[in-house]
Amino acid sequence: MSEKGAAAYQTEPLNQPPYPAQSPPGYVPQLPQATAYPHPPAGAPNYAHPAPPPPYDANSNVIHGVQQPAVTTYVQVVTRPQVGPDPSAMMCPSCTKQVVTRLDYDSTTKTHIAAGLLCLFGCWPCFWIPYVVDSCKSANHYCPNCGAYIGTYHG
Ligand SMILES: [Zn+2]
Repeated sequence: MSEKGAAAYQTEPLNQPPYPAQSPPGYVPQLPQATAYPHPPAGAPNYAHPAPPPPYDANSNVIHGVQQPAVTTYVQVVTRPQVGPDPSAMMCPSCTKQVVTRLDYDSTTKTHIAAGLLCLFGCWPCFWIPYVVDSCKSANHYCPNCGAYIGTYHG
């Protein structure tokens, strides 16, 4: 015998009657301190007593935050030499020799965009032009002596 009736059992929602008004309509409360409300008796004094001042230790003369050395921040400024679209004579920062930079043009996103625009506007036979025109590419300057990278000129 299975008790299927147990599943049907459900707790009735407690229909709590709405609380009556705090005061009857005709009642005019004179003072809020009336003992009509079941206030818990204020047994302990509730006002926050001020904490006693910490005992001043006259022996400890250590004042924090005074002996802070001046923090000298060395900002590593990488001074890349200003390079142009042409090979430029400059001192190589790597081998410190006066060299004329070797240029290595690099296709950039701008190059591809220019080629894409050419194709878009029907100039697709000319799509290769941005890849040839150096001004559409970034020029990487390298030292011909040591091969160090010096800088890039973004055309
Ligand atoms: Zn060099």
